[in-house]
Parts: sequence; C-alpha cells; structure tokens
Amino acid sequence: MKYVVVTGGVVSGLGKGVTASSIGVVLKACGLHVTSIKIDPYLNTDAGTMSPFEHGEVFVLDDGGEVDLDLGNYERFLDVTLTKDNNITTGKIYQSVINKERRGDYLGKTVQVVPHITDAIQDWIERVAAVPVDGSNSPADVCVIELGGVVGDIESSPFVEALRQFQFRVGQDNFCLVHVSLVPVLGATGEQKTKPTQHSVKDLRALGLMPNLLACRSVKPLAQSTKEKLLQFCHVSAEHVLNIFDVSNIWHVPLLLRDQKAHLAILKQLNLSLDSAPALEE
Ligand code: ADP
Repeated sequence: MKYVVVTGGVVSGLGKGVTASSIGVVLKACGLHVTSIKIDPYLNTDAGTMSPFEHGEVFVLDDGGEVDLDLGNYERFLDVTLTKDNNITTGKIYQSVINKERRGDYLGKTVQVVPHITDAIQDWIERVAAVPVDGSNSPADVCVIELGGVVGDIESSPFVEALRQFQFRVGQDNFCLVHVSLVPVLGATGEQKTKPTQHSVKDLRALGLMPNLLACRSVKPLAQSTKEKLLQFCHVSAEHVLNIFDVSNIWHVPLLLRDQKAHLAILKQLNLSLDSAPALEE
C-alpha cells in the first residue's frame, strides 16, 4: 500500500479536502485504485452532534456514519463507498485506547500518548486503508490521508507524530507528503507573499515531516518570482511546487494538478511507473 498524506499550514479552510480528493482523481486516472481517510483532530467521536453553522454540513455514509463533509468530496470525486472508519477523530482513537485499557490489554503498562495513541492511529490507518471501497474485492493501491486542521495545532500533534513514525513503518518509497499552504497578496503592493508558507514548512520540518510537494493556494496564479522564492526557502524542487489558485468550480482542481504534472511527481516519489494514463492525455 502506498500513502499520500495531505497536511495544511497557515490557516484552516484552505482547500485540503479538495486538494486531497483531486490528487485521488489524477492517481485514479493513472490506473490506480484509490481509497481515502480523513483525520479530524477534534474530541467529538463523529460530526453527528456538531452544529452545521460551525462545522458545515454533516455527510452521512451508507453505513450510517455521520462524518465530515470532506468524505462526501472523496465519494463523489473517486466514486468509492467509504465507511465510518474512514473518518478518524481524536475521540474515536482515545475511546478505542481507553476500551483496551479497561479490558486490561496493556498488561499493567502506563498508557501514554506515545506509544499507545500514536500506535493506535497507525494501526487504524493500515487496517482501514486495506478495506476495498470501489466495489472490487481487492484493496486499493494508494490511500490518500487528509490531516484536518493546521500543522502546529495542539490538537493535531499526536497525529503528526503518528505520521512521522508511519513514514518509517511503511518505508520512504510508500509515503508522499503534500503540504497545502497559503500564498496571500498584500493589498498595497499586490505582491504574493511566501513567508507564511516558509514558516509552515519550517514548523512541519521541526516536527520531523518533510513535504515532498507543496500545494500553494492563491487567488491568482503564482508569479515565477514567487515560485523561485518558495524553491529557495522551502526545500522542494521546481516540479514539486504546485499552484492551486482560485477556480470558479472545484471540479477544475484535478485539471490544474494534471496540467502541472502533479501525478508524475507523486508517482516518482512513490516509486510507481506510469504504464498507461489515457484519461490524462490532453
Ligand atoms: P479544508 O479541507 O482545508 O478545510 P476544503 O477542501 O473543505 O478545505 O475547502 C474549503 C472551501 O474552499 C470549500 O468551500 C471549497 O469548495 C473551496 N475551495 C477549495 N479549493 C478551491 C479552489 N481551488 N478554488 C475555489 N474554491 C476552492
């Protein structure tokens, strides 16, 4: 199993869900079977009791799971049927660890965030990624994992640590990290500013995760000088800086990724070859 992890920096609501779904679409167009997992670092067990005014619409899955609306994006973009286990929350992870502790499964050990919570997160990801979701009986080739929230938040830190360990559990050839960040424009000068992205990449690297690709969200396409600055400061190569600017319709985002050859960069990182991708031809 190959894993593409999508994290976010600077602000929430950047379009991580749309970016993760669109990555799934371009990989699917390369002939790969794709599944997805959404991680929500809140303590609620699921989104069922959360106000739609605060959190957006609750998406209800075929198995009755009440989950984040991003799961709806995944089902529509990838034509898959997900289960409630495809949505991991802090509440679900803690509940499973506490249930094990009450059963005595830890044999008297002190139960801690590291390694018990972080192990539970990694075990959950591996178990759910292997469940077929596209009507076939075989597991997917690639699992796209979206980490909700912003890297650096207290809430997401056990998940970031679990993913840091996970890259070694599955091996570097099976792990690709895409970091979605914001490139704002300052009104007075009209200049695209890279500093927020530089800082969020720094935060991520300090936590032991190195982005393989940057997906920069901006209002207008990135200027060449902005891209060069990102290359200088963010430790990624030119073909690994993607630009997802505002489009009138989110269904255009997979096309943006295709035009920037994001699929080739991800396949290369995952040590996969592009045998045939008729759907990606111009
Ligand atoms: P996150 O997962 O980071 O919270 P979402 O993927 O839910 O963000 O996107 C937040 C909002 O931004 C959604 O309403 C989505 O439709 C919109 N959006 C995402 N990407 C784009 C884009 N490239 N152009 C225009 N709107 C976008």
